[in-house]
Amino acid sequence: MSPPSAVSPALQRVLAGDYGVDDLAGLLADGDPERDAALFAAANQVRAEHVGDSVHLRGLVEFSNHCGRTCQYCGLRAANKALQRYRMQPDEIVEAGLRAAALGYGTVVLQSGEDAWYRAEVIAGIVQRIKAQADVAVTLCLGERPREDYALWREAGADRYLLRIETSNRELYAQLHPGMSFDHRLACLGALRELDYQVGSGVLVGLPGQTLEMLARDLLFLRDLPADMVGLGPFIPHPGTPLAQAEAGRVPTVLRMVALTRLLLPDSHVVATTALGSADPLGREKALQAGANVMMPNVTPRAFRALYEIYPDKICTDEEPEHCRGCMAARIASLGRTIATGHGDAPRWLHSQRH
Ligand code: SAH
Repeated sequence: MSPPSAVSPALQRVLAGDYGVDDLAGLLADGDPERDAALFAAANQVRAEHVGDSVHLRGLVEFSNHCGRTCQYCGLRAANKALQRYRMQPDEIVEAGLRAAALGYGTVVLQSGEDAWYRAEVIAGIVQRIKAQADVAVTLCLGERPREDYALWREAGADRYLLRIETSNRELYAQLHPGMSFDHRLACLGALRELDYQVGSGVLVGLPGQTLEMLARDLLFLRDLPADMVGLGPFIPHPGTPLAQAEAGRVPTVLRMVALTRLLLPDSHVVATTALGSADPLGREKALQAGANVMMPNVTPRAFRALYEIYPDKICTDEEPEHCRGCMAARIASLGRTIATGHGDAPRWLHSQRH
């Protein structure tokens, strides 16, 4: 597809599966636009061959913005007293999940801050009720919880779990997550794997202090996990956090991360994230043409949307779920792609089930 002249030696090594950290870091750096074009074209081709042209839609319910953590970058951090907090009741969460199913989404994602108010049994009950009433996969994204909780939810029917490593660099992780432990994060990801969840992970791109070499190592981390799904977004500084004055992550770097993720994990799902769409109006379209094959339309009731402010100027906070459905469909159609049907399990995970 791409003219061979634009395929740099580093990209050639990545395509041959014989590359090092330096190759990845080099491809992540700013440079010749033709080099980027060759990278994106290669990732787009691998995406088409391995996961096809259809785009999976995951309906996202942001059900609580209470959080016990103090992640330096996140607007939901406990220390941000300016944020008005909300919690949806279990009945409301089930209703939102069923609304997502009615819109045709094959997956419902339930996401929140780390909110201990929802006991494990309550979450299990919500999962069970959604699974009993709709033909959907359920993905949870509730942060770090005891292994017993993850096990209970898996038994209740949860299919997938999203837990980003945020950065695979220990020192940077420690700086950004006061009171948290990198090893514990790894243990959570390990437990989720063992419980046979499809595991989604990912990183924040452009964090203060993050180098291209760290990002290159993040790619190796996601490859070796291995992640069934990868979400990558630019860091967007939030005024209510200690990183308010920091520089934002850059869209081109995120797109190069998306493309390299696709090349390293051809059979996994890669998300065109909302954060990317917030940083650049066409950010998600660009990601879909550089290796991504998943989007996450918001199905949070409009009354709560603006309050789930992990970063400022988040898109679609003034819209109803039905509107998001139409908007996503138009964006996907504009690229000549189609909307996937079914639950959209990760091919990588499906293959592992056959052995
Ligand atoms: N409590 C859950 C959900 C966190 S919100 C958990 O711990 O998994 C989902 C993701 O938003 C986080 O994993 C993080 O990568 C991203 N995020 C947080 N703050 C952000 C910011 N300022 N800019 C961009 N993305 C951010």
